[in-house]
Amino acid sequence: MSLILRLLAILSLSLLPALAMADDGSLRTGCPTLEATDSAARNALMQYICFYSAPPGEPAHRASRPGQLPENLAWTPALGRDLVFSATKSVYWVHLHIRNSGAERSLWYLKLSYPLLDEITFWQTGKGTTESIVTGDRHPFSSRGIDYRYFLLPVTLDAGETRSITLRIHSSGALNVPLSLETPAEVIAGSNHLTLTQGLFYGALLVLAVFNLLLFFSSGTAYYFYNAFYMTALGLFLFAMGGFANQYFWPNTTGFANMSIPLSLALSALAMTLFGRSFLEVSKGTTSETALKTLAWSCVGFLALTLFLPYSKTIVLNTVLALAVISSLFVIAVVRWKQGYQPALWYLLAWLVMLIGGLIYALAAFGYLTDFLAREALMQFAMGGQVILLNYAMVQRWRLLNQKLLEVEHNARTELEFKVHERTAQLRSIMRELEKANRQLSTLSTNDALTGLHNRRHLDNIFPELCAEARRTGQTLTLALVDADHFKTINDTWGHSFGDACLRFIAEMLTRHVKRPRDIAIRFGGEEFALLLPGTDAAGARKVCETLLADIANTPLTSPDGTEVRITLSAGIASLSAGESQNQLFERADEALYAAKKEGRNRVLFSEGTEA
Ligand code: GH3
Ligand code: MG
Ligand code: MG
Repeated sequence: MSLILRLLAILSLSLLPALAMADDGSLRTGCPTLEATDSAARNALMQYICFYSAPPGEPAHRASRPGQLPENLAWTPALGRDLVFSATKSVYWVHLHIRNSGAERSLWYLKLSYPLLDEITFWQTGKGTTESIVTGDRHPFSSRGIDYRYFLLPVTLDAGETRSITLRIHSSGALNVPLSLETPAEVIAGSNHLTLTQGLFYGALLVLAVFNLLLFFSSGTAYYFYNAFYMTALGLFLFAMGGFANQYFWPNTTGFANMSIPLSLALSALAMTLFGRSFLEVSKGTTSETALKTLAWSCVGFLALTLFLPYSKTIVLNTVLALAVISSLFVIAVVRWKQGYQPALWYLLAWLVMLIGGLIYALAAFGYLTDFLAREALMQFAMGGQVILLNYAMVQRWRLLNQKLLEVEHNARTELEFKVHERTAQLRSIMRELEKANRQLSTLSTNDALTGLHNRRHLDNIFPELCAEARRTGQTLTLALVDADHFKTINDTWGHSFGDACLRFIAEMLTRHVKRPRDIAIRFGGEEFALLLPGTDAAGARKVCETLLADIANTPLTSPDGTEVRITLSAGIASLSAGESQNQLFERADEALYAAKKEGRNRVLFSEGTEA
């Protein structure tokens, strides 16, 4: 009994595929069979594809395998067009017949170059077997069978074999179904090109981001940090969009695969806002700043929302947010440029490039434009261009700052030089004034205020010098001390001011009589005068003094009461003898003067030891 049952079970199991084949292989789509060995036919794959879009509620929407499809399904031939559908709830069925008309068993890959599909099932039916692969974002990356960012279905055909291939595609976002049938060599070549271009692109982005981060650490300038942040966020978004993030970052976190796109998009929008604000030097308190602040906070809010709302909603919300950020920054850059901020022009150019690339990509990704692969390449080209332009703009900005710094330094130096010149000139003029004042002071200190003759201080200064000179040269030096006679009486009789006038008169007479350039007349006491006569012997001095005395005695002065007053002087003369000190000379002259007074005044006497 059990044997019979087992036999029945084996029979039914072996029959199942045959039944399935009969079931699935019978799909009649009206599309021609593709000759896999014919590369021209492979290149025109879309001519051989038929599809059916099943909206919710239809049996084809509910069907989970080709066998459940209604037999009279109205398949649509693709007729060479790409399969692109904007956000939709439909389930898509795609069908294709492939034949190997070659002489050998060969392998081909059916490649679906759109990595973001939620769920996709491949069936291939031939020779009584049906093989299927269930994969997509909702399944771990390993479900793809082949570790590749796109979906690859290996199709091995014996010589002359025909297989029927059916795809069931369901996705919550937009739908692109870029299909191609390639030989393993073609897949490898395509993968190589992809590795090179993508590697270059992400490598450059990474290097620039790290470079900017290092610049930030060494200079402390915030916008380098924002630039690094922006490039990282942008790179992450593109990495997720390109399917690399699913492949390398979270191959087993199926829930995160979909979420990562709106998440990295909101992050990019935030980075763009912060970098833009920093780069464009948007001043605090302006409308631009308020707008950017609002946008930045919206980005943070949307980032949080992404964690709770379904993908179909967050992807639209975050795309709108990113477009709002891009256009706001564009307007603000125009405003900053109009305000005369030069680097804004480069920023604008970079933004324009990205705007065009981004828009085309978004349109393709959301199913409004065909040829997703070409758009993706264009987008990367635009992003790369934008990043290079932005970095160039940063260099420009740095150059501008440097130029400003040099200008400030130059101005400061010029100003400093000017100030130093000014101060030096001031100092010079002060020094001149000081010198003048010093001269006046020294004149004042060596001159007598009443008569204008030299004073006692000058005598003390010059007397030793003249004595030393006389000793050295052997020339005679004669000193005459002159004293007004009975001067006290004059003061007592006519008052002190008349006395002063008399003193000035005496000084005038002295100056008049002492004519030689080196002769010096000095008032060294009240009514006491000294004449220093270098190079004049006692006889010469006597002559000078006698004429002086006579002249004064013969020149009457009128006193305040009208009386005629005649002043007389007494003089004592001494010449420096060999080995004599200046004090001794002075004493001898003084003794001679004393003697002259004693002998009756108004006379000139010689010191003893002096030859007349
Ligand atoms: P002798 O003939 O002995 O020199 O008598 P004398 O009065 O001139 O001598 P004495 O030395 O006794 O007096 C000097 C007087 O000279 C005293 C003072 O009244 C006067 N005298 C000194 N210095 C000044 C001065 O600067 N201005 C005036 N007006 N008088 C002066
Ligand atoms: Mg006197
Ligand atoms: Mg006197």
